[in-house]
Amino acid sequence: MKTSSGRGNLVLGRAGRMPGMVLLVLGLSLLLLPRTALAAPDPPIRHAVQPGETVAAIAAQYGSTVPAVVAANLLADPDQIAAGTVLLVPPADYPLVPVDVRPGDTLASLARRYGTKAAELMAINELESPVRLIPGQDLLVPAPAGGRSLALPPGPVVRLTTSPDPLEQGETAGVRVWLDSAEPVSLTIAMDQQVVPLRQATDGSWWGLLAIAALAEPGYWPLDLRWVNPASGQETTFTWPVQVVDGGYPTYDIELPPGKGDLLAPDLVQAELERLMALWKADETQPVWRGRFIRPISEDYLTSAPYGQRRSYNGGPVSGYHTGQDFAAPEGVPVLAPASGTVVLAEPLDVRGNAVVIDHGAGVFTGYWHLSQIDVQAGQQVKPGDQLGLVGTTGLSTGNHLHWEMRVHGIAVDPLQWTGKVFP
Ligand SMILES: [Zn+2]
Repeated sequence: MKTSSGRGNLVLGRAGRMPGMVLLVLGLSLLLLPRTALAAPDPPIRHAVQPGETVAAIAAQYGSTVPAVVAANLLADPDQIAAGTVLLVPPADYPLVPVDVRPGDTLASLARRYGTKAAELMAINELESPVRLIPGQDLLVPAPAGGRSLALPPGPVVRLTTSPDPLEQGETAGVRVWLDSAEPVSLTIAMDQQVVPLRQATDGSWWGLLAIAALAEPGYWPLDLRWVNPASGQETTFTWPVQVVDGGYPTYDIELPPGKGDLLAPDLVQAELERLMALWKADETQPVWRGRFIRPISEDYLTSAPYGQRRSYNGGPVSGYHTGQDFAAPEGVPVLAPASGTVVLAEPLDVRGNAVVIDHGAGVFTGYWHLSQIDVQAGQQVKPGDQLGLVGTTGLSTGNHLHWEMRVHGIAVDPLQWTGKVFP
């Protein structure tokens, strides 16, 4: 758990509830029903990989599936599996995922957290009594089903969804929680360094955004929830596994013409990035976009370099990934605001050329680089379709194009996803 930061720690309560009203939290027991009659499951098969064997062949051999084997072993890349590796092969109809034992965990508390029974955990993990759990130890627990039926521990959070599920590298997910509590609840949701601020939706649920970088390792990423009962001070923590799958991004080498390469001086690149990061880490403003984003440039102009491309320059090593979508277009083609927001930067930058950044609220920013002309000013409100400027090739650019960038909580995500999916 990331307990050092209080950021994003909101006190949430159900609207219309009077404090002090006595209301037993019902319904939780429904979520904690045992997972059918699987009282004594067999431990997963262990298979030592032979030279030339594939995960698909091993899964098929035992009636399992590739996703089940990948999940149980947290495999980053099922195509790169070394001979001699011992794989856990769970049955296809009983997928398992590893979780970390935390200080203070007992078999009973883990069983409650993951909606299973202590006896089931003992059987799956081949534990013998007396069971001694060591913090940091991996234990296998039943995986959340496709419908995310993973039981939540007793507490005010009665339902949690992330969408899409699974997530591709570089995508944004909507996170939604439903609370049922007579008392206000202090709830924090975070993944790695990313805190997910929550806002109340019209249906009473709470939503936030989770950004996954294009270079995030495929596998299960822990979404950490922590809530505190203000009356008792009791803290509950819970980890929700979010599945991240490969985005299939290729690697691409960029030849920079003489002169343009000089702009890659690391201190200059870093200073510009730090300035922008300071700008787009803000997440306290209210969301002002509505529905899908529109394309910032006419459909006539296609993607020339997609988001997520791993990049090297002039034959060097991969030094990062393409943080936006490039559209090839002639100089002077209008660049349009894709959604409502406030212009927070509109000026020439060394690397990004003539640049515009829009704050859409809730930690969502879009950027437009290499413009030949800027038509907005910092502080200006824009709505979908407003002209921001014209396509150009200013800054570190090898030809006329629009670079469209999107940042969520400071993380560069694929903006095209937002043209097809409505957030929150
Ligand atoms: Zn670009």
